[in-house]
Amino acid sequence: MGSVNLESVNKRYGDITAVDDIKIDVADGEFLSLVGPSGCGKSTTLEMISGLTTQSDGQIYIDDEDVTALPPKDRNIAMVFQNIALFPHMDVFDNMSYGLRIRGADDDIIDRRVDEAVEILRLDGMLDRMPSELSGGQRQRVAIGRAIVRDPEVFLMDEPLANLDAKLRVHMRTELQRIQRKLDVTAIYVTHDQEEAMTMSDRIAILNDGELQQIDPPLTCYEEPANVFVAGFIGSPSMNFIEGSIDDYRFESPITTIDAVELDEPSAVTLGIRPEDIYPADDPRADRTVGSVRASVDVIEPVGERMFVYLLPDAPGGQSTDGAVALDGDHLLMSVDPDTDIAENEELDVTFDQSSIHLFETATGNALIHGLKREPTPRS
Ligand code: ADP
Repeated sequence: MGSVNLESVNKRYGDITAVDDIKIDVADGEFLSLVGPSGCGKSTTLEMISGLTTQSDGQIYIDDEDVTALPPKDRNIAMVFQNIALFPHMDVFDNMSYGLRIRGADDDIIDRRVDEAVEILRLDGMLDRMPSELSGGQRQRVAIGRAIVRDPEVFLMDEPLANLDAKLRVHMRTELQRIQRKLDVTAIYVTHDQEEAMTMSDRIAILNDGELQQIDPPLTCYEEPANVFVAGFIGSPSMNFIEGSIDDYRFESPITTIDAVELDEPSAVTLGIRPEDIYPADDPRADRTVGSVRASVDVIEPVGERMFVYLLPDAPGGQSTDGAVALDGDHLLMSVDPDTDIAENEELDVTFDQSSIHLFETATGNALIHGLKREPTPRS
């Protein structure tokens, strides 16, 4: 079966460490996404699993077999890339069967495998068509078909949907999940798009600068990000960050103070709050909130089912001049229902959902607390 294990895998190009001591265990039949910003090492990691790139250190196991020294053709993997390289002069059948044919497979095996792939991919009636007679989505399905007919243990996909238009991309996400479940194959999927990773995967592995930041189910990464990087990368729009410090069980920053924080060591901390977890103070949900920020509404952006409100907090004693407002960026972004009665230039108080506050150690970025458990107690 197709489990994949990376044991302390490194890839260095001269002085550049593209992948730094990565340990990842992918279970048989699992859909794992590798996600992170451009240049974080996703493709390099995938290429090392495929054997197209040789690691500098570490071991790679597929189905518990050490494949570290094996060439790609002996790894029982199939790859689908962003650029769909179908042979333009071959019809769909020949494109799909090419890999099996050059391996010398019998005609009846080729016919059976192509038939199965056609059924799974819903390409009935298209075997005679040339690539130029197919839509973008159909071409991508033929490319996947070419991988499927080889009956691999592991499917490796590098941004396979990146060249499709937005609507087709969303459709193909669902298709790919359906195909992966139907084939019961292990899938490792590279994307820079956190939303794509969140919607498709059993687990996501988030990389930054060649280092693994967190590997967990999508909701865990969203609700309990391991560090500031993951917190800012997962979720759209991004989490707000407010720099402050802990003193006597209290979070203090120029824009707000929060009591009853379960941390007693005085330290510099970063408070994270997602835009959807900030409410106007008169919101009915405000009874389970903490903190209070006085702010003026700078810009309102309606985006369909939500409305984004860009707030400029009033620091105590007026707007600070030296960056002491402590926001990452100038604004605090709040996401509210579009029928919320808020106007630009209005002054209002907003407050934070107590169960959705994250605290990170500023020095390391590591998460300290997700959600304040205790009832906030007024200071005497
Ligand atoms: P991603 O897929 O996340 O965009 P890559 O895995 O392609 O990132 O690249 C990771 C890092 O390794 C980048 O800094 C990139 O410039 C570097 N890199 C990748 N391939 C090579 C190469 N052949 N030679 C030198 N540096 C490389």
